[in-house]
Amino acid sequence: MQRVIEGDSYKHKGLRVDLCNLLRQRGITDEAVLAAIGRVPRHLFMDRGLDALAYEDQALPIECGQTISQPRTVAFQTQLLAVRKDMKVLEIGTGSGYQTAVLCELGARVFSVERQKGLYDVAKARLAKMHYQAKCFLGDGYQGLAQMDYGPYDRILVTCGAPEVPQPLLRELKLGGVLVVPVGDGEQEMLRIVRTADEEWETTRCGDFRFVPMLEGRQF
Ligand code: SAH
Repeated sequence: MQRVIEGDSYKHKGLRVDLCNLLRQRGITDEAVLAAIGRVPRHLFMDRGLDALAYEDQALPIECGQTISQPRTVAFQTQLLAVRKDMKVLEIGTGSGYQTAVLCELGARVFSVERQKGLYDVAKARLAKMHYQAKCFLGDGYQGLAQMDYGPYDRILVTCGAPEVPQPLLRELKLGGVLVVPVGDGEQEMLRIVRTADEEWETTRCGDFRFVPMLEGRQF
């Protein structure tokens, strides 16, 4: 779908073409993921003072001491997730809402949880203004959204570093569903976990990354 987004421009679109080429050089091969990244105006998910850096391949600060992940990390996680149109996707760590928008661009039905009220408020309003149809929730994503009755999910994506694999999330996956989660203190190992049977999950290790930590509870 072609969206017209206020504050986007041909200059920014050009910078996104360059960014996508850089991501190809850095090993991203899924053209659907690259096309989605090419459509989302990353500069509108951060402070205007960071405009010049928005299409560099780097993590940048957002409110509440958090970060918007590096584009290569967003692309890599999204590629591992293998999202198809109309899939139900649960995202843990809405942050700026950028990754949420990328998932929406892939045609997913996105449910996103954030624990910090300041970020939740800003991201929810921002996504609505851009006409992204994601459902945002304020809460502790470690626990998933089991109490909300939206699950089970085809895909679950964690965008903060979890101390261990969140067990409640494993149970919110459909059979054949995929959880992508960075696990570890300090540095994290990216895990891709597939639910292969009711009580069976298969894990693939996909390299080292660095994320802000997953924290417990809600923060108002
Ligand atoms: N996907 C985001 C990345 C934000 S960084 C983006 O594109 O901007 C990770 C986010 O996870 C932070 O906003 C942090 O507040 C949030 N977070 C950390 N622990 C959490 C938890 N237990 N539940 C929900 N969100 C959490």
